[in-house]
Amino acid sequence: MDAVTTETLYEPVIGLEVHCQLLTESKTFSPDSAVFGASPNENVDPVSLGLPGTLPVLNSRVVEFAVRLGLATNCQITERSILARKHYFYPDLPKGYQISQFESPICTAGYLDIGAARRIRITRIHIEEDAGKSLHDQDPTSTLLDYNRCGVPLLEIVSEPDIRSGAEANLYMQKVRQLVRYLKISDGNMEEGSLRCDANVSVRPEGTPVLGTKTEIKNMNSFRHVERAIDYEVRRQTALLKRGIPVTHETRLWDDASGETRSMRSKEEAHDYRYFPDPDLPPILVTEAAKAAIMAGMPRLPAARHRYYVQAFQLPEYDAGVLTEERPVADYFEQAVDVLTSSESNASLPVQAKMLSNFVMGDVLRTCKEDGIEIANFPIQPLRLAQLAHLRIESTVSSSGAQLLFEAMLSDDRAPWVIAKERNLIQVSDRGALEPIVDRVLDEHPKQVKIYLDGKQSIVGFFIGQVMRRFDGSPDPKLVRTLLIEGINSRNHE
Ligand code: ADP
Ligand code: MG
Repeated sequence: MDAVTTETLYEPVIGLEVHCQLLTESKTFSPDSAVFGASPNENVDPVSLGLPGTLPVLNSRVVEFAVRLGLATNCQITERSILARKHYFYPDLPKGYQISQFESPICTAGYLDIGAARRIRITRIHIEEDAGKSLHDQDPTSTLLDYNRCGVPLLEIVSEPDIRSGAEANLYMQKVRQLVRYLKISDGNMEEGSLRCDANVSVRPEGTPVLGTKTEIKNMNSFRHVERAIDYEVRRQTALLKRGIPVTHETRLWDDASGETRSMRSKEEAHDYRYFPDPDLPPILVTEAAKAAIMAGMPRLPAARHRYYVQAFQLPEYDAGVLTEERPVADYFEQAVDVLTSSESNASLPVQAKMLSNFVMGDVLRTCKEDGIEIANFPIQPLRLAQLAHLRIESTVSSSGAQLLFEAMLSDDRAPWVIAKERNLIQVSDRGALEPIVDRVLDEHPKQVKIYLDGKQSIVGFFIGQVMRRFDGSPDPKLVRTLLIEGINSRNHE
């Protein structure tokens, strides 16, 4: 083989450590409020500050939330897991150590699918408390410290190095966010820092099984930053290796303005932290019974719903993706399907589901977005949406009639057929009622009839308009067209 002309291809290898802030009312080890948005240093009880003589007491909700996420990501749940002290000095960590888990995390060996054929293994999920916040940009001469966040519960989700690009990392983060929101254990709000990520990045010659030296890009809180930072880092490391320069094992920071990562410090090792089991905290026990109780309270997860929508409802992948993206939307849609399928309609399940999917993806979500309302508070609830869909499926209202009806229903909470009747939106599909008007229109326009018979069939639109205008109500346009063509043709034979 000619070594000069064969260029080595490098494969990116990425593992993510995602920190997710939990939606508990109180902190991990104290009754202090864990709710975001308090003014600085409002929630700083003696335990949060690590004052001497205080003792931590574990919040059981934190354990429950960790187990929920572990079950949702196919993890093994550790029956007896240990809380450990991780020591380091930093001004935002008044205790001098963070309580975390080291040797026996609460969840291990799971996975998360990010596509039909892309499975990212999860090494572990562990419980830890957050540190405070240093504010460097409030004052040019000093750093301010806000300890509200000290002790707020986090789950750290550590992946195996199975991710292969910035785009995949982005997708994985989105799946994690979707899951924690479905499970209602976190708001997944990235701007507020409820979801943050450290990306471990290395490259290796394609086909080699060994891992290259990695760098760790710290603390990113936007999907876009994660993707850009990783892609930059892959290019940087590849360029180094191509020039024969080894990658340095270090921690780096992403600077979105310059579009670069830069070195922050050399990487610390686990032994630097002097981990040891926290003597103030007993082991966390998760019995089979406790696990079963948590399992019983789990919602159906987005991946399962997506599969069900495609298989049972025969919805397109696209629809299934939009409808399952957020749990409240999926719940709304499914409630509407339940109502519609138990109504007396002869339409098949796929027809009913598609009709509802179109209403939800189109009118409902559009209006929610325009008016800035949550679907749970939407003025048209699933029952009435299903009634509207029923009217449309039975052709009781036309498609344009359904639009008008939907608009009317936003500010009128009566049953849709009552509103439709009042507004003359019920489609008239009765030949007997339409025929006299069709005949009259054709009689009054012999010239146009001749034009049609001479071959210009598009003029039928003119007749349809005339009939619609004269009719008090909403004739079914398809039926009007049929009657007009029948009428013209019979005149031809006269
Ligand atoms: P550290 O001890 O440096 O924190 P860990 O083994 O705990 O490293 O792994 C931390 C994260 O880094 C995990 O998500 C893991 O998948 C990922 N990782 C480990 N080695 C590599 C590597 N060579 N390249 C990319 N990611 C890696
Ligand atoms: Mg680590």
